[in-house]
Amino acid sequence: MDKIPNQIDKVTSSFMRSLCMGNIEEEIILPYPQISETDRELLKGVIDSLSAAFKGRGDESRKWDRAGELPTEVLKEMRELGLFSLIIPEEFGGMGMNSTAYSRTLQELAKYDASIAITAGAHSSIGMRALLLFGTDEQKAKYYPKLASGEMIAAFCLTEPGAGSDAAAIKTKAVRDGDSWILNGQKLWITNGGIADFYTVFAKTEGESGQMTAFIVTKDMAGISTGPHEDKMGLRASNTTTVMFDNVRIPQANVIGEPGKGFKVAMNVLNSGRTGLGGGSTGAMKTLIELTAKQCKERQQFGKSIADYGLIKQKLGHMIVDCYATESVVNLVAGLIDQGYKDYGVEAAISKVFASECLWRTADEALQAAGGNGYMCEYPYERIVRDCRINRIFEGTNDILRLYIALTAMNDVGKELSALSKSLEGIFNDPIKGFGVMSDYAIKRVKQTTGVKTGKGTFTQLHPLLATHAAIFEEATRDLSVAADRILRKHGKNIIGKQFATKRLADIMIDLFVLSAVLSRVDASIRKNGEKAAEKEIEILQVFSGQVRRRTKSNFNKIDNNDDELIKSLADHAFENEKYIWDTV
Ligand SMILES: Cc1cc2nc3c(=O)[nH]c(=O)nc-3n(C[C@H](O)[C@H](O)[C@H](O)COP(=O)(O)OP(=O)(O)OC[C@H]3O[C@@H](n4cnc5c(N)ncnc54)[C@H](O)[C@@H]3O)c2cc1C
Repeated sequence: MDKIPNQIDKVTSSFMRSLCMGNIEEEIILPYPQISETDRELLKGVIDSLSAAFKGRGDESRKWDRAGELPTEVLKEMRELGLFSLIIPEEFGGMGMNSTAYSRTLQELAKYDASIAITAGAHSSIGMRALLLFGTDEQKAKYYPKLASGEMIAAFCLTEPGAGSDAAAIKTKAVRDGDSWILNGQKLWITNGGIADFYTVFAKTEGESGQMTAFIVTKDMAGISTGPHEDKMGLRASNTTTVMFDNVRIPQANVIGEPGKGFKVAMNVLNSGRTGLGGGSTGAMKTLIELTAKQCKERQQFGKSIADYGLIKQKLGHMIVDCYATESVVNLVAGLIDQGYKDYGVEAAISKVFASECLWRTADEALQAAGGNGYMCEYPYERIVRDCRINRIFEGTNDILRLYIALTAMNDVGKELSALSKSLEGIFNDPIKGFGVMSDYAIKRVKQTTGVKTGKGTFTQLHPLLATHAAIFEEATRDLSVAADRILRKHGKNIIGKQFATKRLADIMIDLFVLSAVLSRVDASIRKNGEKAAEKEIEILQVFSGQVRRRTKSNFNKIDNNDDELIKSLADHAFENEKYIWDTV
């Protein structure tokens, strides 16, 4: 990914943190990242081989879904296609993909079968990513070749029965015993759990405050067992099991990163892997758009094709806007990672939330446009709806990620408010950890001293054709910085308990970051191909910036004018009665 060198410090800069201060750091997002020629060649080859392998196998996909299992021959095909080698460096037998190429590959896979995509994705996005990010040279030399060939499939073991969103509450424990560690505990809903040979396991270890540590655990170690394959709503052919550790002896050499720093490892893995899920969502949306366009053109009702009706066009048009916006933000985040930006946690979380929600809406609308056929298992719509529902839950629920996005992005605002800074430091230390979000990042950010620039509230480099849309962004940015400041002044450390307000701010931030991605991409397209060729993309931008303007205005208004207390009162009433009490009989 090429980018003109700029003055931005890639270690500390975050587009969204600056935005909350009212600064538009356009150098971070402009020019829109382009795929290098080398990556383009690599991707063409991958796309062709995936098409040759999986195109036209929809009936088989349906059988795998029904059976709830990927046949061993399919896993073999995946190995042969190199689907377990995507992010492993070439010298170890991998394809050495960067984030952009990796995300694009998952996009392609997801077009064919979500269970296959998740099996490959769980291996690379989370299963072996700690090794990639934090592994020693010895660990990499030992495991990369087997992971690349698929002789070893990887799984990521964090969740436990009592620790989901609250990942810091895990009970799995590793105790030091000479040169080894003894591991005991149980992990829940582990993707690839039953087919993996390489587990990245997070366990509490003794230390100053019961910190956690990340370990490489391999299937050949005595004391590991897995439960039955879970019967799930979707992604049914993807293997999900419990993984149990009973006095498993792990050599010290298998610790990933520093002992006691496992929480940071886990959160880095999840952040870094998010473009995989975003890419997969984009791929599924592209499939749904194709299916819907074909189905609606063929289907005749009231004497003509339903494609001629406004309400059908409305659905398909929105699918296009959602897909383009998702692709723009996912590729932008991947591009930032590839350019060496380190502080992309908020932006990556935004891309995950946005992508998973756009896919959900697209799948629902595609099924609706297909009518009764959409509900029939003979067609792929119902399976895609089932498959994509989990995207809003795993790799951090979208609810928790919204809290993380807003609280982390507002960090610099909190620091500015010197009177509040002491108390804010408290909230970034405890409550986030309390609900299992990326506390290390929040803590780091609170402690970071960044030179916050002022007076960067406008775009200066965007193509003049985009001025109206840039103005929408700039106005909302000013409102955001004022709102963030006001909310933090008002609530201080109690902001942590103000989830309605935090969610509203997160929604504004999500809209703005995605709009910045669309602006940047359309800017690049106009410059490269000219206004005429970019006409449809400008139309997409027009629709999306209008949506953002309306949604952000509504969210800003609701900060002071809302029914939050009434909604809470009704929820409390339902919790107290444990039912809806107004039966008419
Ligand atoms: C198919 C599948 C595959 C998975 N694969 C893996 C895997 O490979 N590895 C792995 O480690 N895990 C995996 N998971 C687990 C997944 O990451 C968790 O399900 C997820 O983190 C949410 O945890 P939970 O289900 O315990 O929900 P909970 O944390 O119990 O949350 C329940 C609800 O409460 C909300 N909530 C929780 N805390 C708060 C709060 N403080 N404020 C407001 N709302 C809150 C949540 O947003 C959610 O809506 C998988 C799960 C599934 C279903």
